[in-house]
Amino acid sequence: MSRPITQGVSCEVCNIQRAPGEIHPRESRLLKGTTLLICNKCEAGKKEPRSFIIIVARTKGFEAVSDYIKHERYVGKTIEAKEIIK
Ligand SMILES: [Zn+2]
Repeated sequence: MSRPITQGVSCEVCNIQRAPGEIHPRESRLLKGTTLLICNKCEAGKKEPRSFIIIVARTKGFEAVSDYIKHERYVGKTIEAKEIIK
């Protein structure tokens, strides 16, 4: 279920536009069945979109994403406890 890759694609993790060859579709590690367009840099860092980490933390608990938060495997401002706590 990959989407077609055209000119000037933005990585769905870091939101930076990359050349088509630098972006690849990959299934999210956190939200199974969701395909991400991810750049080589984010892939190398095993990163996931910040919003996915918050969603999973809220639904499955902090333990499910503790590694992502501890090692900052996302892009953007630091995820705060108040964003996770319901
Ligand atoms: Zn990226």
